Amino acid sequence: MGLSPNPTYIQDPEHMPTGSIPDNYVSHTLKHQEALPPITWSNWYKELNWLHVFILFVPPTLGIIGAVDTPLQRKTAIWFVVYSHLTGFGGFALIFLARLLTLLELYYSGLTAGYHRLWTHRTYKASKTLEYILAILGAGVVEGSIAWWARGHRAHHRYTDTDLDPYNAHRGLFYSHMGWMIFKPRRKPGHADVSDLRQNPVVKWQHRYYLLLAFIMAVVIPMTVAGYGWGDWKGGYVYASMLRLVFVQHVSGNSFRIQSNLLTV
Ligand SMILES: [Zn+2]
Repeated sequence: MGLSPNPTYIQDPEHMPTGSIPDNYVSHTLKHQEALPPITWSNWYKELNWLHVFILFVPPTLGIIGAVDTPLQRKTAIWFVVYSHLTGFGGFALIFLARLLTLLELYYSGLTAGYHRLWTHRTYKASKTLEYILAILGAGVVEGSIAWWARGHRAHHRYTDTDLDPYNAHRGLFYSHMGWMIFKPRRKPGHADVSDLRQNPVVKWQHRYYLLLAFIMAVVIPMTVAGYGWGDWKGGYVYASMLRLVFVQHVSGNSFRIQSNLLTV
């Protein structure tokens, strides 16, 4: 007896052999790893991930309430567009500086200039300065740290449309758009190699200071620019902070997931 004679097969989904993913990994894991019960009408309220519920529902609520008595000034509207672009779409201008992506790639990259393209897929190489800029801007979308996000997204591509894909499209549009974050995951995302990210000093730095960075980039900067710039503190808070968060989270963060499913990019 002893270890399996064929190293490409596993007996225990919790203990991955080093090297490549074994052939039976998905079927074996789905069969042997315990999963939480399915979400139903009778248990859904016990299965909520409250941190994600807060992130997804508080900004639109505060933004809509604030917008009722806050006129949208022209400069604040421009700032909303510019800052949405910088945080949510990673700053096309920055990418042009990198001069490594084609226009078509840019069209499909989204927020993801940093989180998606650079760190998850390693589509291009960036200087340390550009990495820090993209890591700081990406924190302004409040979609989690690069380390957390890229780990889930690599599993998504590796196990697309199986239950080891954290946003499995077979569970419906609502689930792959928001449900996967609102509810506690039914099982761990499939194994994905993120050893490169664990060694990346920018990724480690962003993960360590994520909450502070997210607060500064999502709330302090958009308010301060509008406040000191043209005296519109409240507009900065309502439009450039809260409603921008709603916009970038739903447009950039999720469109590339759907796009990923369609195009497997
Ligand atoms: Zn992707």
